[in-house]
Amino acid sequence: MSFDPQLQQAIAAHMQYLRDLGIFDFYRRDSVVVMEPTPQEPVIPPRNPVPAQPPVGSFVAPPSRAEALRAIQFEIGDCKRCALSAGRNKIVFGDGDPNARLMFVGEGPGADEDAQGLPFVGRAGQLLNNMIAATGLKREQVYIANIVKCRPPQNRVPEPEEANTCSPFLFQQIDVVRPEVIVALGSTAATYLLGVKSSLSGLRGRLHACRGTKLVVTYHPAYLLRDPRQKKEAWQDLKLAMAELGLSVPSR
Ligand code: URA
Repeated sequence: MSFDPQLQQAIAAHMQYLRDLGIFDFYRRDSVVVMEPTPQEPVIPPRNPVPAQPPVGSFVAPPSRAEALRAIQFEIGDCKRCALSAGRNKIVFGDGDPNARLMFVGEGPGADEDAQGLPFVGRAGQLLNNMIAATGLKREQVYIANIVKCRPPQNRVPEPEEANTCSPFLFQQIDVVRPEVIVALGSTAATYLLGVKSSLSGLRGRLHACRGTKLVVTYHPAYLLRDPRQKKEAWQDLKLAMAELGLSVPSR
């Protein structure tokens, strides 16, 4: 097999770089390793798909982010864009530091959130607060939002039509805040942030990308309340997120 001379030069430079790092043992792989793709089902595509990256020139300088978020909230107004509006009390826009480095995204408001207009203030919210505290951060330092901003009846999973109608506002919030890492809480958040439907186990434990930001998938706190054995796994996910932020977590 002969290589293009430029490629050969690049390989030689890379080998030298590895030697400089003290890596001398090279081996040739006998067979090609085929990575199994994560099994994915397509999500019902939105009627008006949002580009996967923030629009060029959309960068909002940190001092203007709070105001930019208020502008999005103003645009949402007294929203009647989907059927969820019929049963809601308060729209749950999102909450936290407009300049947060870390953002959490859940599925949709429950009864407590619907009553207060704030995300994650019920039992699942208490657990999320504890998870955030365990990282050494304060809740006020992160930004928290949901895929849908109105409570689905009986806390059912949002319908694709509802999620696809509401999530463009979440994407705008992400584009304004520009967190360095997003943590998707549960499978609904992962599905609509990544645009693919896959098992949580197929998505956890590695980095994904959403709107130019790194994304980590973990369990929804409500699931962890039902099955606390998985808290250890969720902690591993949070440690991955913190490592990407270059922050060390307090030892437990
Ligand atoms: N569950 C969610 O997904 N979001 C909330 O805000 C509260 C509970």
